[in-house]
Formats: sequence, structure tokens, C-alpha cells
Amino acid sequence: MDAIISVSKAEMDAIVGVFKSKKIPVYEPEDEEYQRSVAVANLLYRFTRPSCVVQPENSSQVQTIVKEAKQRNIPITIKNGGHSYAGFSTTDNGILLDLLRMKKVNLDMESKTVTLEGGARWGNAYSKLVSGRHDGYIINGGRCPTVGVSGFILGGGLGPFTRSFGMGCDSLLEATIVTSDGKEITLKDSGNPKSDEDRLFWALRGAGGGNFGVVVGLKMSVQKLQNKEGMVVAGIYMWSPKLKDMDEFMTAMKDFYTTNWETQMTIDSSWVCDLQQTTSDLAVRFLVYYDGSKDDFDNLIDRSVKHKDLAKNLKRRSLAEKSTRFLHETLASQWLEEIIKSTPSSSKRSYAIYSSFVFKNNKKTIESATAIIRDEMKIFRGKFAGEKALLQVTWIHSGGEASKKKREATAFRWRDCIYHTYIMLQWDEKWLEKDMRGFLEKFKEKLRPFSMMGRAVFINFPDMAMQQNTHERAYFGNNRQELQRIKKIWDKDNFFNWNQGVRLPQPKGRTPAPGAEISARMTRMAVSSFTAAGIIEMEGGDDDDRGNPVPLAADEEVLGQEVLVDEQALTDTIAGEHWESGIPRWNKFEGGIYGLNDLGF
Ligand SMILES: Cc1cc2nc3c(=O)[nH]c(=O)nc-3n(C[C@H](O)[C@H](O)[C@H](O)COP(=O)(O)OP(=O)(O)OC[C@H]3O[C@@H](n4cnc5c(N)ncnc54)[C@H](O)[C@@H]3O)c2cc1C
Repeated sequence: MDAIISVSKAEMDAIVGVFKSKKIPVYEPEDEEYQRSVAVANLLYRFTRPSCVVQPENSSQVQTIVKEAKQRNIPITIKNGGHSYAGFSTTDNGILLDLLRMKKVNLDMESKTVTLEGGARWGNAYSKLVSGRHDGYIINGGRCPTVGVSGFILGGGLGPFTRSFGMGCDSLLEATIVTSDGKEITLKDSGNPKSDEDRLFWALRGAGGGNFGVVVGLKMSVQKLQNKEGMVVAGIYMWSPKLKDMDEFMTAMKDFYTTNWETQMTIDSSWVCDLQQTTSDLAVRFLVYYDGSKDDFDNLIDRSVKHKDLAKNLKRRSLAEKSTRFLHETLASQWLEEIIKSTPSSSKRSYAIYSSFVFKNNKKTIESATAIIRDEMKIFRGKFAGEKALLQVTWIHSGGEASKKKREATAFRWRDCIYHTYIMLQWDEKWLEKDMRGFLEKFKEKLRPFSMMGRAVFINFPDMAMQQNTHERAYFGNNRQELQRIKKIWDKDNFFNWNQGVRLPQPKGRTPAPGAEISARMTRMAVSSFTAAGIIEMEGGDDDDRGNPVPLAADEEVLGQEVLVDEQALTDTIAGEHWESGIPRWNKFEGGIYGLNDLGF
């Protein structure tokens, strides 16, 4: 989502003409390819209509696009897999640069490296390991094969084997980027912390999405799994506790989350409260990935899971298989529901809002967070009985190798996190938006104090309802000042500028006037309440590398007032604004009743 700069039709016509003359694929609203590029799964962004879509075929075309757009001050929004939970790759303003034609992947098993163009998705990468039958090897990528490689890695990237190999961005060896002056540069860690290039490479690993330029190529290391036969263990188990067993269930979940698992084990869990399902209050879906043999997996489960039935079912519903088969089939089937929901052409398109939290797994955090989630699910079921809506809280397992680096090692800061946990609220009818936003606002207010620093959010699970003067702290903590310095070096005119982007350095100690730093779009949203930053008592706050708590003032400077959004007031703002910005059409790539075009719609 971009900051609003108005672009005249004459300017757009001129730049489209330039792209056409240089044979850069460019599409306007009447073109089918345009419809394909702007199609979204989340109905909140259904009317987003950029002035044009470009689909460059190579890096030199990307350079031309950036140079021509910057010269005319026409904003660019970059899209890779289009999976952003907060619509970061949608726009109703300027150019949508869709990288879908740049998806080549080259796997080199001699050097154990993979090079990927900036538009590749994880499925493109995994299929190389699968077709070469490279059992026992993994690329440290995403769970869902349709997620974009760039979008994932530039946000840090939390993969199914992160606990064994670190964040996705820790496997990044090189990145090639077209910067705001239209130059292409290949970056790596040269060992000189003072070089501007090294600092940009640092920034890309956790804060690279949409902030410093267009990443056109990535080089990553290929990792070797532990099991000599090239096997992994993976499975799914859905636990639907009966009402009478809820106390036992809550104890089991607390034990489960406070367990310090061996790094080879990753278990995600989603608490699901689906109003259409009435057999139990809530259910928890466990997704298992284990880097080792089935015997070792079973032993580890027996040693670690106190609840006998849960242990039995986790073992029963997991299977050992070759790692290539896991990549080809299992990973996609574990995430099938999410994949379908995030596919624009799916009949399951719906409205969805998200917020996320960065949890450690100490007793207090886990006890409080699980109790809040349980209560909120009860409230949700009572309040919205009979509606078509879903409340899901997903705990993505982190820690292990990802926690071994220092917080300043990459722009991705939340190294001590054990669970990146996100709330998703999803519903079918637009009239529910206000109620859903109101519900999320209250829910996240209760959970927020337990997130690291009382505010941490993982940028790959972003929250669209954050103000500009708070999002950098939430996503980057104290890495934000260095990011702003790097921004000034590489994008001093702030060409890559959007609502939740890295900003140019901010005057120190300035207390932002309420609403003063809110972008044009956000100003239209009601700003209703204020709180002094840092007054919340924080469980799971930041601590130093030996685990000692760091006082807030020393680690996170307090700038003054932060502005909270009245989320209910955001109702219909996105669709309402986009509706104003152009004549919409039924989009044949978004499922739906696009045949209505024939009737003049
Ligand atoms: C089903 C599903 C499963 C997921 N699983 C995981 C998971 O296991 N781990 C995890 O960490 N995240 C996960 N995510 C979140 C996902 O990693 C992020 O949403 C990620 O940003 C998506 O990347 P994308 O390229 O698909 O999205 P896009 O929406 O295309 O891009 C996301 C952001 O990156 C920017 N960007 C994209 N490409 C470039 C580029 N080449 N150069 C510069 N900026 C660029 C965009 O402008 C936008 O700001 C999941 C999301 C979904 C929907």
C-alpha cells in the first residue's frame, strides 16, 4: 500500500508509451493481464486498481521502469507472490510492478547454492530439489509454495526448518537490487561493517520489502538435513476437545508451549474457532515437521508431551518420508486451506484482518496468552453465533538456530522469539467488518503486553491498522534508527514510500502531534485514543544476549505519545477509497460472477 501522490492521466499515458516503445510488458485496466495482476484473495482489497501494471522480463527492464517512474515521481508498488496479509503489494495509485515473469531458479548442487529471480515463488524453488531427487536437502524457505521468495526473505522468513537452520534470511548469500537511482547492485556480506553496501545487505534481511529498491535476484545456500536417508517426519493432528475437557486441554497446551523443544522439532499450532462448526468450542490443529527419523521423533514426543492422548495422536498422525516427497506433496497439503484462501481465483475468497505477536515461552506469557485466547474464543462464539466467520490464532514455532544470532545481526530483530503468533479474523459478508475490527482491537489490546517489548510484531505477519509513528518500533525495535540511516543513503528522496515503510531519519526527541505523521490515506481514519509509550508493564520484554532484562529506557527510547487507531473507524475505508479511484470491473481471475461484464457492469 503506497502513500498517495496524485498522478495525472497525461503523465501515465507518457510513461506507458515509453514502456511500450521499449517493449516492456505493460497493461492497462482493459487488459486481461492487468486483471490477473491486480486480482486479490482478501476482499478488503478488491477494488485496488493501479493506473497500470508492468511485468518486467529482466533486470534491465526493472532499471528502466524505476528510472522513468522516479523522473516523473510516479509511485511504484512491488509485487512478488502477492501474499501480504495487509495488502502491501496492492495499490490504487501509480504503477504495480509485478515480478511474475522473473521466476527462473537455478540449483547448483555442487556449490550447494540456489539462485532465484526476484519473482520466484517457493514452489518454483522446491520443484528443483524435487525434480532432481535431491533427498536430504532443503532450501530454507516458506511453508506455502505460493508465497513469494523475495517477499518472504526480505521480511526475515520463518520456515519449517528455521529451528534447524535459522531464519530464511540467514541463508541468504547475495541479493541483487535495483535501487531508486535505477542502478543494479549485487550485495553480500563482505565483512566490512562500515561499507554502505554491507549495511544495505543487512537492511534487506528483515526490512527489505518495498523499502530500498526492487530485489531482482537472490542467492541462498542449500541446507543438508540430519537424517542420513534423507527422511523427514511430517504430520497433521486436529484436537477438538469436548467442553468438559477444557481444563485438561488448557493444561496440556500450557505444558506444550513452555516445553523447550530440541531444534530438530518444529510444531505449529492453530487454535480454530469456526462459527459454522458447532461440535466443539474450539479446535487446535498441530502441524509437525521433524528433521530426523520416525523412531527419534516418537521418542522425543514421548519425552516431551505430558498429555498421553496428545502424544499418542501426534505420533499416530505423522509419517516419515523422503524430503523431496515432503516438499512436493506434504507441505502443500498441510497448508492447503491457507493456500486456497490466499488464491485470488478461489471460491473461498473472504474478508480477513490480522495482527501478530512475538512471544517467548516463559510460564507467565504462555499462561496469560492461552487464557486470553480461550476467553476470546468463547466471547466470539457467543457474540457472533449464526454468522459465517472464523477466528484463528496460529502459533508458528521459531527459536532454535534463529535465536543464536544477536538482535543486531540482521534487520530482523526478534531473535529471542519462540512463537510468532498471529490472530486472523475472517468473514464472508462486508456488513460484518465493523464488528470484526472492533473485536480484533479489544483482543489484541489484551495480548499486546505479552509480545516482546510490549509491542513487537513480525513484519511477515503484519498489522495494517498501525500508525506510521509506531510501525517501525513494532517491526524493527531498536534496529529502526539504523534502517532510517540506511534509507537516507540509498533512497534519500524517499521514492519507495508507503504507509508502513522505513522512513527517512526522524528529528530526535520530537513528540509527534497526534495524527501529524499519518499518511494521506491514514488521515481519513479516525484517531481516537492516545497512550504514553512504554507505560505497559511488559512480560517478555527485550533482554540482553545473556537473557538479562534491559530496562526499557536503555533499549527503546521513548519518543512521546503514540497514536492508536480506532479500528472500527477503518470500516470500509479501503474499499470506499478504492471505489472512488476508478471504474471497477468484474475480474475473471477473482472467481465471482465476472460474466456480469456482459450486462454492462
Ligand atoms: C498461506 C500463507 C503462508 C505463509 N507462511 C509463512 C511462513 O511460513 N513464514 C513466514 O515468514 N511468512 C509466511 N507467510 C507470510 C509471507 O511470508 C509474507 O506475507 C510475505 O511478505 C509474502 O511474500 P509475497 O512475495 O508472497 O507477497 P507480496 O505481497 O508480493 O510482497 C510482500 C511485501 O514484499 C515486497 N516485495 C515483494 N517482492 C519484492 C522485491 N522483489 N523487492 C522488494 N520488495 C518486494 C512487497 O512490496 C510487499 O511489501 C505466509 C503467508 C501466507 C498467505
